[in-house]
Amino acid sequence: MDISKSRESVTTDRGQDSQLVNGLAEAPRGKSEHTEQYQFDVIVIGSGPGGYTSAIRCAQLGKSVAIVERDLLGGHAVNWGCVPLNSMIASARLIRSIHECDRYGIRIPSYRIDFSYIARHRDEAVKKVRSQVKHFLDKYHIQVYTGNACIVNPHHVLVKPVQKRTYATIRDANGHSPYETSDYTSVRADVEITGNNIIIAAGVEYELPQFVEKNDRKSVDPTELLWRRTIPESLVIIGGGVLGCEIASLYSHLRSNVILIDKNSRLLKCMDEQVSFAVETCLKANGVNITLNANVERVANGEVIIQLHQANIQRTIRGALVVVCVGRKPTFDYKYLEQLGIRIDHERSTIITDEKTCETSIRTIYACGGIVSSCWSWVSCAVRQGHITANAICCVSENTNNPKFHMATNPAAPFVINVIPAVASVGEIPKSTDNVLIYMYKFHTDRRAIIDSQTWGFVKMWTTSDEPKRFLAVQLAHEAAAEIIEYYSMIISLNLSIRDVCFLSFAHPTYTESVKEACEYVLGQSMNYDENLRL
Ligand SMILES: Cc1cc2nc3c(=O)[nH]c(=O)nc-3n(C[C@H](O)[C@H](O)[C@H](O)COP(=O)(O)OP(=O)(O)OC[C@H]3O[C@@H](n4cnc5c(N)ncnc54)[C@H](O)[C@@H]3O)c2cc1C
Repeated sequence: MDISKSRESVTTDRGQDSQLVNGLAEAPRGKSEHTEQYQFDVIVIGSGPGGYTSAIRCAQLGKSVAIVERDLLGGHAVNWGCVPLNSMIASARLIRSIHECDRYGIRIPSYRIDFSYIARHRDEAVKKVRSQVKHFLDKYHIQVYTGNACIVNPHHVLVKPVQKRTYATIRDANGHSPYETSDYTSVRADVEITGNNIIIAAGVEYELPQFVEKNDRKSVDPTELLWRRTIPESLVIIGGGVLGCEIASLYSHLRSNVILIDKNSRLLKCMDEQVSFAVETCLKANGVNITLNANVERVANGEVIIQLHQANIQRTIRGALVVVCVGRKPTFDYKYLEQLGIRIDHERSTIITDEKTCETSIRTIYACGGIVSSCWSWVSCAVRQGHITANAICCVSENTNNPKFHMATNPAAPFVINVIPAVASVGEIPKSTDNVLIYMYKFHTDRRAIIDSQTWGFVKMWTTSDEPKRFLAVQLAHEAAAEIIEYYSMIISLNLSIRDVCFLSFAHPTYTESVKEACEYVLGQSMNYDENLRL
């Protein structure tokens, strides 16, 4: 790789010749893609999991790479998504353990929550993970441009100075940045860069819906909630999807009075009904007040006006803070991508890509991560798609005929919803029950669960009815769901039959052993599990 080539950058004043609107400039005419020498092999827009994975992988495969990021390195996942949220959930888990410790013979009669320490732990985790991303971008000589990327044509990207409010520019009441960092300096003037390929990994962002009064100081989106330094006395959460449930679980453990509102008849529509009912039960047991079948009409100054579907009654719910967990939209304006020739799926609000290569309808432009995974995406999908994109650009064969290796779509990829106890999923629940068998394995006879006194929970499995049986989908609810789901994910990805798993050895006593026991149960060979056994 010629690093000097990748270090080169050109500052141009494009004047009035291109009209820039939301991430895209009108293409200048008459440039020949065959004769031009490009500064970089690959330009990546966005440094979230999709962006940094594809950038680093391309560089590992010998390409010169530039990454354009308008905000902090690491994207949503690192700065205002999973890392800060899950580091606070780690504190909530400890609170739960304190509540349960009597049963293990340890008495903690009183304790105090000091949120400033929880926030410090959260912010340190974010900084560490962000510097890890930066380390790898530096290690592979990836040139970082801080600015707003606009695609000019299939090989040209214009990096504009950041004007819009970004997380990096936010200041609290004392003038401090919650995301304190020294590695954020926006380009001062337009910089035009060229590349053989462009990868759009620009993710999705929150936009408060129209029902929220403009500039309402008591309404926030989940990302803004995550860098606050205080716990609201009461919190109204709008939206009972993944984030709504995680935030409800977290803040109820932090002793906030939580009210959760959803328009559907159940929480977590993306999950099986039994799993979502289990989550609802646990949230209620922790004091969360849940209102379902309710349309939000207006939000202002901590007041939420809802219309209940069945009774046609209007009600006002009040909270010190309202967090709106609905309303994510792509960061790029699709109208202009379409003008460039990139095809868009308007129904799903995504860029259309070839799922085996992540190539868009323009041969040199690829897209991966949240921007192709519709409004909710998982890091596992973004990372997998980042690999697929880099391998396709670098002509590296994925070296497998196994179609399940391409589990880079949302419904099939493994994911964990970090409510307490957690729930997790892998595979796609079949739409029809023809040739499908459904099994339920409960943890009440599981040895590790008995030892740990964590016998609440179950695994629901959808399998083929043909022999040898294979898993189609698995969903589970348990304290250790996050670790257990990885095994089911590997079994499905590697296309192992359930009989194959029964031949494997698992360490004892572990929660992952439950995977083998569940497989033995499916085959009628169980020696520990009997659904009717009460211990
Ligand atoms: C609160 C929260 C919690 C979450 N928790 C989890 C979890 O526990 N597990 C999980 O799997 N997923 C979780 N997610 C989802 C996860 O964050 C996303 O799946 C992931 O970030 C998608 O990665 P991405 O690379 O597509 O986009 P992003 O991470 O959103 O990164 C896109 C980047 O592109 C930049 N960008 C956008 N437009 C431009 C432009 N024009 N020019 C330059 N840069 C641009 C943005 O600033 C951003 O940094 C969570 C999300 C949120 C909001």
